[in-house]
Amino acid sequence: MTLDANAPAPHAPPIRTDVLIVGAGPVGLFAAFEAGVIGLTCQIVDALERVGGQCIELYPDKPIYDIPAITSCTARELVERLLAQCKPFDVPIHLEQRVETLEQRDDGRWTARTQHGLVFDVAAILLAGGNGAFVPQKLTLAEAAPLEKRYVHYSVPRLADFAGKNVVVAGGGDSALDWALALRKVAARVTLVHRRAGFSAADSSVERMRRAVDAGEMDFVVGGIAALNAKDGVLRSLTLRQIGGEVELEAEHLIALYGLVADLGPIAQWGLTIHGGRVDVDTSNYESSRPGIFGVGDIANYPNKQKLILSGFHEASLALRKAYAYAYPDKKRVHVHSSYDAKLAEKIGAAC
Ligand SMILES: Cc1cc2nc3c(=O)[nH]c(=O)nc-3n(C[C@H](O)[C@H](O)[C@H](O)COP(=O)(O)OP(=O)(O)OC[C@H]3O[C@@H](n4cnc5c(N)ncnc54)[C@H](O)[C@@H]3O)c2cc1C
Repeated sequence: MTLDANAPAPHAPPIRTDVLIVGAGPVGLFAAFEAGVIGLTCQIVDALERVGGQCIELYPDKPIYDIPAITSCTARELVERLLAQCKPFDVPIHLEQRVETLEQRDDGRWTARTQHGLVFDVAAILLAGGNGAFVPQKLTLAEAAPLEKRYVHYSVPRLADFAGKNVVVAGGGDSALDWALALRKVAARVTLVHRRAGFSAADSSVERMRRAVDAGEMDFVVGGIAALNAKDGVLRSLTLRQIGGEVELEAEHLIALYGLVADLGPIAQWGLTIHGGRVDVDTSNYESSRPGIFGVGDIANYPNKQKLILSGFHEASLALRKAYAYAYPDKKRVHVHSSYDAKLAEKIGAAC
């Protein structure tokens, strides 16, 4: 498994592989393993900066009880196990890459492009995009957009960018608390702003934050952000709405961590038949209305679809068998049970 979050070199040739897996949630990760078992090469892209989809973004520490043969494991452990399972196939994973366009060429293969310029040349596409790409929930204030990236941020790519600065972190979830705690070590001042005194973060994070506030290492202010005050295009302060009225809080940078929202986004423009934000598929092979594009996991729509991880595993397994026919139209694939697959045993044995 190779994690790659970098932009491609200019004019880099398209990356040629059998299958492009869109989404590194649990279903996309299992699909990468299954592709290797079947004899297909693949690469994964995900819009987020980390793998795991909903498991990591929404409930990393919650136990899951309905994965076959695993009595109980947290969502984070499941993702770690899935990564370990596909490790022998060394599948490249391109993070922070949202697939934007998809075009079918005259030779039947597909060209897929991401927003940061990666180009793929593939025989089939496996959409394991869940409810769509997760994107940060942004501030609705009109003055936020022109300040975005320089003074208003929705993620923290590098702590060092905030060294010696007066930073406000807004939000009450794990992300907001964890980043506020991390930033207090490099920033001149960190203030956590949340609209109420209660948090949706883990109790341990809340406890650490309160200890840091008591120790004078950071501040915590209850209030909603009513306005951003900038002069000459530079953020100077925030206006906070509180029960007693409005107050002004000096800030050089605002990091708003209000969570993520799913957005089907570009997938909706690819000419697929879509109902209720999900891609219609044929349950014999999970192929969409466009041959060569498959929908598996939560993004798949068919009668009686259950949004369960185990359903997605089954769907991916069948879809990839059909994808094989696109990648190797002249070859007949002979099914071998994994327990009798000597090549697979050797590969997995060597990687363990
Ligand atoms: C709180 C909670 C508890 C749950 N508990 C259980 C449980 O106990 N058991 C169970 O079976 N299921 C459970 N589920 C459901 C389960 O998490 C989902 O069924 C599962 O995550 C679906 O996996 P997926 O890989 O299809 O999609 P996701 O996990 O949603 O991952 C999709 C990925 O695709 C990426 N993506 C989308 N579009 C693009 C694009 N254009 N370009 C690049 N990347 C893109 C997204 O960024 C995301 O990372 C639970 C869900 C929730 C919210």
